[in-house]
Amino acid sequence: MDISTTLNTAKIIIAIDGYSSCGKSTLAKQVAKEKNYLYIDTGAMYRAVALYALRNGFISQDNFNQKALIDSLTKIKVSFSHNSELNCSETYLNGENIEKEIRGITISNHVSKIAQVKEVRAKLVEIQREIGAEKGLVMDGRDIGTVVFPNAELKIFMTAHYKIRAQRRFDELQAIGDDITFEEVLNNIVSRDNDDTSRSENPLIQAEDAIVIDNSEITQGEQLKLVLGHVNNKLSH
Ligand code: C5P
Repeated sequence: MDISTTLNTAKIIIAIDGYSSCGKSTLAKQVAKEKNYLYIDTGAMYRAVALYALRNGFISQDNFNQKALIDSLTKIKVSFSHNSELNCSETYLNGENIEKEIRGITISNHVSKIAQVKEVRAKLVEIQREIGAEKGLVMDGRDIGTVVFPNAELKIFMTAHYKIRAQRRFDELQAIGDDITFEEVLNNIVSRDNDDTSRSENPLIQAEDAIVIDNSEITQGEQLKLVLGHVNNKLSH
């Protein structure tokens, strides 16, 4: 077999993990587009389960009926479908397009509690592994390089100063007309960072072999160039 052909057609898994609102999905989408890879936003999957839990009254400000959620897990189907008009992937819950609904602050305020449930994680990790079986994938989340694909060929760990992350998220939410204050966004980010790093199930930690990118002071273009350099480097070896 011609080795150069094998190398040129080889596909890898690119795992992008990091703190909330540091631009993981923006970067992941850009890299997937450049390499013609599939992009999977695992945060959207946890958000979809949070929406199901909210709609069914399993979670509220003061209560969380974990057992009811766990008992209902077989009824929850999360999937993605490509919207060719907008040229992006959208999230579905039991066949309903929920892409817009899962991005608001209500879901953000509950999702980290949902993500602490072992059974929820087991179900979503299994789906994520199935999706990635063929490689040629950019997946972003909190545990992709550590748990979902510990053998991913390229692992990126992203971070940025929490106030910068809050400002970026606040600007995004304002742009989509969300009536929210900067303090609410800041509190949500601090609290999700805390929940995600301190939970016992698959906490957010940096994989030992991850490349760390702090994007507090660099532009999206600089960041993309940097990461594509790493991708191409992996593909040429
Ligand atoms: O990435 P995003 O901010 O949309 O994720 C929403 C929440 O889902 C995170 O705050 C985290 O609690 C959870 N999550 C997770 N593991 C992942 C992806 C997201 O625990 N792989």
